Amino acid sequence: MSSVKEKTFRKLKRKRIWPSIVVFVVFVVSCILAVTVFLQFIALYIMGTKVVHHYEETQRVSDALDQLMAGGRTFSEAMNEMQQYITDGRDLYVLDQDQNMVFRTGDSEPDFEMMLEFQVGREFVAVADNKSSFTREQGLGTVLNMPVDDVFGRVFEPGEDGETLAQWLDETIICQAYWLQASLKDEAYDLYVKCDIQFKRQDIVYVCFFGVIALVFLLIPVILLFINTIRSIVTQQKMTQLFYLDAVTGGRNWLYFQTGAERVLTRLYSKKKAYAVVNLHLERYQNYCACYGVRAGEELLEAMDGFLRVRVVKDELYARHEGADFGMLLRCEGENEEERQENCRKRMRSLLAELTGLKPEKKIHFHAGITMIPPYVAEDDKWYRARKNVDINQLYTYANAARIATGYGEEQRVTFFDHEMLGRQLWERWVEDTMEAALRNEEFQVYLQPKYSPVNAKMVGAEALVRWVSPKEGLIAPCRFIPIFEETGFITRLDDYMISHVAKLQAEWTIQGKKMVPVSINVSRAHFAQEGLAEHICQLVDAYGPKHELIELEVTESAFFDDKDILVETVRQLRAYGFHVSMDDFGAGYSSLNSLKDIPIDVLKLDGEFFRGDDDDGRGQIVVKEAIQLARNLNMRVVAEGIEKKEQVDFLAGQGCDMIQGFYFAKPMPVAEFEEKVEKDA
Ligand code: C2E
Ligand code: MG
Ligand code: MG
Repeated sequence: MSSVKEKTFRKLKRKRIWPSIVVFVVFVVSCILAVTVFLQFIALYIMGTKVVHHYEETQRVSDALDQLMAGGRTFSEAMNEMQQYITDGRDLYVLDQDQNMVFRTGDSEPDFEMMLEFQVGREFVAVADNKSSFTREQGLGTVLNMPVDDVFGRVFEPGEDGETLAQWLDETIICQAYWLQASLKDEAYDLYVKCDIQFKRQDIVYVCFFGVIALVFLLIPVILLFINTIRSIVTQQKMTQLFYLDAVTGGRNWLYFQTGAERVLTRLYSKKKAYAVVNLHLERYQNYCACYGVRAGEELLEAMDGFLRVRVVKDELYARHEGADFGMLLRCEGENEEERQENCRKRMRSLLAELTGLKPEKKIHFHAGITMIPPYVAEDDKWYRARKNVDINQLYTYANAARIATGYGEEQRVTFFDHEMLGRQLWERWVEDTMEAALRNEEFQVYLQPKYSPVNAKMVGAEALVRWVSPKEGLIAPCRFIPIFEETGFITRLDDYMISHVAKLQAEWTIQGKKMVPVSINVSRAHFAQEGLAEHICQLVDAYGPKHELIELEVTESAFFDDKDILVETVRQLRAYGFHVSMDDFGAGYSSLNSLKDIPIDVLKLDGEFFRGDDDDGRGQIVVKEAIQLARNLNMRVVAEGIEKKEQVDFLAGQGCDMIQGFYFAKPMPVAEFEEKVEKDA
C-alpha cells in the first residue's frame, strides 16, 4: 500500500467504535454528576431554609431579651424570665465580654472549636454542639454527612396506630444540634441558642421527587445517545465488513489480506514460524467466462472462496486478488528450508488437486507460485526478532512471477520463487527500459558469420547476427534479449534496423568495389503478422540501393506454424523482388516437413542440433543425409549450421551440402574483421 493510502486506511480503522463509546460514557458520567450536584443543591436548599428559620427564631429571642432589658430588667432577670418561654430543646448559652459563660440551660454547650459556616445568603455565626457528631468544620454540606435513620424502611400503612400520612412524612430522619449566635443590643453578651437541624422524611421525598424529575429529563438524551451509539457501532461493523468484502466472491478482499498478512508476519510470536505467500491462479478463466457466462465464472470464484475458507487454519489467510487470482498466506512446518518447501509443495498439490474437482463436469486447472518466508533469524543466529516492514504486495508479486515463469499448461503446477527468478525479472525490466534508447544510440551492432563451401573452403555467404554493445553491460548475446524483444514486439524494430544496416554495408561495399558475398538476415516470426512485409523490406533495402540478390532473409522454422497463407504470400513477394529466402533452424523443435511442400524457399538451414552430441550409431548422419537429399530434390540449397569439427565438414561435403556455417570456419565477427576475411577467403 502506498503510504498515503495506508494512512487513510489506518485512520478509518481507528475511527471506529471507540469515539461513540467514549462520548456515551462521558455523557452518562456527566449526567450522574449533574444529578448528584442537583440533588445536593436541593438538599442544601431545604437545609438552608431550615437554618434561616432557626436564625430568625434566634433573632427573636435576642430581640425579646433586648426588650426585657430595655424594660429595666437586669440581665439575670431577663434571662430567668426568658427561660420559661424557651421551647423544649432550645437551650441558651450566654458569654460575657470576657468570653466567660454567665448563663446556660441544658446539659450540652457550644463547641467553639468547631465553627460552622452556612452559606444561605445571610451572615451569622453557627457553632457545633459538643455532643453532636459533626465531623467537618465547613459548610452546610456537613449536615448531609450526618447519620441518617432508616428513610423508607418502614413503609407507611394507613391506619397503623392511627398514624396519618402527614405524621409519617413528618418523622425526623436526620436530627443534629448546633448553636446559633445572636448579639444583644448593648453587645455586652453573646447569646447562643441551641437549634436542631431536622431532615424529615418529607424532605427526602422532595429530594427524591426532584431526583426522579431530573433523571427523567436526563434519561431521554441518555437513551437517545445510547441508541445512537449502538447504531454507530453496528454501522461501523457493517462498514468494516463492507470494507473487507470482495464483491465477486462475497469473501474477504485484498485489503483484508494485505493488512491481515502484514499483521500476522510482524507479530512477535510469529517470528519463529515460517510462512508461504501463494499466488493461486485459475487458468483460462476468461475462456471459462466466454463459454459458460460471466455469472458462471463468478460462481466458480465463489466456490473457490468457499473451498479455501475451510482449508485455511488459524493464523492463515486468503483473499481474491484480481481476476481469477487468489493470494494465500500459509504456515509452513519443517526443520529446514528444504523440508518446509517440500511440505508446502505437498499441501499445495493436494489443494490444487481438490480444486480441480470443484466443478466435476467442467475441466479447470490451477497453477500456484510461492514465495517462502523463513523464520526471522538475527545475524548471530540466536535471537529471533519480529519481522519489520513486510511488503506483502512485493512478496505476492514474487509468487506471481514464479507462477508465470513456469508458463502455461494443463497440469497443476507449483513453483517456488528463487533469486535467479528475480534476477531474470530484473534483467527483463532493464532490457525493456533501455531497448528504445539503445536502438536510438546504435548500441546494436552487426556481426557477421561467414558461410563456407565445404568443397573448396571458399567463403560463399554470411549471416548477420546482432550484438548489443551496452555501455553498462558490455557485449550482450542475442539469446539474452531476443526472446524479450519477441515478447514485447520490439523485435520488428530490431529486424528493420538490421536489414537497413546490412543493406547499407552491401551498398558501401558495392561502391568501394570490394569482394562481396550474399548476407542473410534473421526476420522474426512476429514480423510476418505485419501486412505488406515484403514491400516494407524492399523499401528498407532500396533506401541504400544494393542488389536484392545480395540479401537473404532467414525465417525461423516456428514462423511456419503461424498463418501459412500470409507466409507463403510474403515469401513469394520477397522472391519476386529478387531476395533469397531461407528456412532457419530446420529440424529444431517441431518438424515442418509439410511446410517444405507449400513454401517456395531457396535455402534450407539445418539446425545446429543435428550435429551436437555423439552419433555412434550413425542415425544422425542418416537423417542429415536424407534432409540434404530432400532439399536438393526440391531445388533448395542447403546450409549446415553449428559445424565445429572437420569430420562434420567432410561428411557434409560428401553429401553435397552447399554451405557450412560454424565455428570450425569462423565465429560471428565485427564488420571490419569480416571485411578483411572476405578479401582473403572469398
Ligand atoms: P540463428 O539465426 O540460428 O543463428 C545461429 C546461431 O548459432 C548464432 O548464435 C551463432 O553464433 C551460433 N553458431 C554458429 N556457429 C556455431 C557453432 O559452430 N557452434 C555453436 N555452438 N554456435 C554456433 P547467436 O548469434 O547467439 O544468435 C542466436 C539466435 O538469435 C539466432 O539463431 C537468431 O535466431 C537470433 N538472432 C540473432 N541476431 C538476430 C537478429 O538480428 N534478428 C533476429 N530476429 N534474430 C536474431
Ligand atoms: Mg539465423
Ligand atoms: Mg539458425
